[in-house]
Amino acid sequence: MLENKAALITGASRGIGEAAAMELAAQGANVVLAARSKNSLDDVVSRIQDNGGTACCVECDVSEYDEVANAVTECVAQYGKIDILVNNAGLIDPIARIEDSDPIQWANVVDVNLKGVYHGLRAALPLMKEQGSGVVVNISSGAATGALEGWSHYCATKAGVLSLTKCAHKEFGDLGVRIVGMSPGTVATDMQVSIKASGINPVSQLEHSDHIPPEWPAKAIAWLCTEAAAEYSGTDFSIKTEEGRRLVGLN
Ligand code: NAP
Repeated sequence: MLENKAALITGASRGIGEAAAMELAAQGANVVLAARSKNSLDDVVSRIQDNGGTACCVECDVSEYDEVANAVTECVAQYGKIDILVNNAGLIDPIARIEDSDPIQWANVVDVNLKGVYHGLRAALPLMKEQGSGVVVNISSGAATGALEGWSHYCATKAGVLSLTKCAHKEFGDLGVRIVGMSPGTVATDMQVSIKASGINPVSQLEHSDHIPPEWPAKAIAWLCTEAAAEYSGTDFSIKTEEGRRLVGLN
């Protein structure tokens, strides 16, 4: 379905990003995996290649604009274009109530979760505009519109990402470029291990078995990259609903 599409996925060293890279590659896309952990990226690249896919990786801290721009450049150098950007890299640590939070660590979450997404948009959208085509999937969360104790950094940054999705859609939606958010619900990744360890708020009380596997949001991301999802541009698409899961082919 995504035959010969060139895709860059941030935060592809584990969790949802890893699953998305595997899924996009399985659907025929040529993928560039970006994150900070080179060894983990190499491992995912090897598994994609073992499955007959095309993949490479680049070390990238999304909080640094130059590193994100370099990852976009690498995608174009390897595959001649950038059709898909998945702005997935994100973190929630350290979880803390505002009165206990560390201002530097709080700001670091802004640098990664919010500025990281802006960096991806800033680097990729001019190229997609020039191509007259492209899709950006910003990984969102219920936290974009809901408030949770101990998650002020996470909720505020995910709300900011939803706003970026809407603003980018306003600026690029008429130019053949689609920007869409994807809200997965709770997913069984390392992030949920940190959340459980925090013991703060009702999400930390969920069991690992309550969460969906990362392969589900990966399928949603792949579907959002197809024309079938065009009507959801500028919004957060959710797979928490029966309807969302049906559209993506999850049930
Ligand atoms: P995860 O397993 O902790 O993976 C996070 C990924 O982000 C890793 O690949 C990590 O790679 C990367 N990352 C973190 N900081 C980075 C940085 N500065 N630069 C580049 N990459 C960085 O978490 P996940 O659950 O897969 O989360 C992926 C996305 O889904 C996040 O945006 C998260 O907010 C969102 N989400 C998750 C859930 C959930 O329940 N799990 C629910 C809703 C939304 P390195 O450490 O190698 O850099």
